[in-house]
Amino acid sequence: MFSKILIANRGEIALRVIRACREMGIASVAVHSTADADAMHVRMADEAICIGPPPAADSYLNFPAIISACEITGAAAIHPGYGFLSENAAFVQVVEDHGLTFIGPSAEHIRMMGDKITAKDTMKALGVPCVPGSDGGVPDLEAARRVAEEIGFPVIVKATAGGGGRGMKLARSAGELETAFRTARAEAKAAFGNAEVYIEKYLGAPRHIEIQVFGDGKGNAVHLGERDCSLQRRHQKVFEEAPSPAIDAETRARIGQTCAEAVARIGYSGAGTIEFLYENGEFYFIEMNTRLQVEHPVTEAVFGVDLVREQIRVAAGQPLSFAQEDLTPQGHAIEVRINAEKLPRFTPCPGRVNTFHAPGGLGVRMDSALYGGYSIPPYYDSLIAKLIVHGRDRPEALARLRRALGELIVDGVDTTVPLFFALLEQDDILRGDYTIHWLERFLEGVE
Ligand code: ADP
Repeated sequence: MFSKILIANRGEIALRVIRACREMGIASVAVHSTADADAMHVRMADEAICIGPPPAADSYLNFPAIISACEITGAAAIHPGYGFLSENAAFVQVVEDHGLTFIGPSAEHIRMMGDKITAKDTMKALGVPCVPGSDGGVPDLEAARRVAEEIGFPVIVKATAGGGGRGMKLARSAGELETAFRTARAEAKAAFGNAEVYIEKYLGAPRHIEIQVFGDGKGNAVHLGERDCSLQRRHQKVFEEAPSPAIDAETRARIGQTCAEAVARIGYSGAGTIEFLYENGEFYFIEMNTRLQVEHPVTEAVFGVDLVREQIRVAAGQPLSFAQEDLTPQGHAIEVRINAEKLPRFTPCPGRVNTFHAPGGLGVRMDSALYGGYSIPPYYDSLIAKLIVHGRDRPEALARLRRALGELIVDGVDTTVPLFFALLEQDDILRGDYTIHWLERFLEGVE
């Protein structure tokens, strides 16, 4: 096992990893930009090193500074958290070239899943159900027309190098195809330096259901059920729950097994998430994330496992500490992502937090790097806290969420907390009856 791990991240996820390290008797090294000198992860780690100025490109994404920090402190492994370098195959290569361990999958698997056409082809070959669409890239408008006619409108044109919802255009009818095709290509070229696009059938009212998988890198893998992340604003998840109100035990076992077998067959190592759209009882693969997800705590709550501890164990060459038959979901968990943003427009709202009080009590978990007197810097993501509640069933989890939100005090900056109180008043949310379009429509109504 490693004696010291460097965490190449900040905020609540850096704390999350430091906590796992401490419970495992592993020393932790925090890295930080000059803007984060007073951040909680710097205070909580055993050691801390400044790696550059505020812009992430010069600090949290700075390969040489991070590798040097490992060499200076004697850290043998790097945990990337989520975002930043977590899905950067070139970084993984550099880490390995320096004789260090990246806590995550291989560069090859990151590359395979980072290119959406390759990811889809791979998954299809492994028996994972995919959205009907083009076979690989679509080179020109003629080819786009042929594919669209075959699968039928509406279709969505997507960038193969895509991410964050960019380079994606909807064409409802043949008349809209040319514009959708050209703008998707132009956006893809501008955002990712790669204009290649592919075409998929557009699903009208799906849910976003994702399966948590875990591989040991030696051909064994398990699944830890699903998370329902359908409540999204601009393709950003806002509210996540496990299990999904739309999935029963038999469906979970079936899709879960398909996913676990797929990652086992490619020899995948560590945590991964296979994302699907789910409509009329059918799953359609959209992408795989080769890292820990922001919403991993809801899975931890219902399965009673520590996913970060497991990532560290697997990276150190140890076997998985659970088998599929050990994994049965218990009760219901919900996570809400609390951002420092002003409603109704979600305008980022950095600044000084005068008072901070985290909720507590039975079934409440607060993952946050806030403290009273902390100044939220303007340079990074506006996520300031994740509130996770766990109850015996969904109604209990909802009641607990309402209770815990009422205890939370963040004084000094605006937050998205009022949105969650509003959601908890909606019958659709209480019934669990929503698709990926529900939240956008709700927000149009209240603006
Ligand atoms: P990105 O990596 O850019 O986030 P994804 O492929 O994960 O792209 O898709 C992001 C979101 O776009 C999905 O969660 C869904 O809301 C929507 N989307 C993607 N593909 C389709 C599709 N075929 N039909 C309907 N909506 C889709």
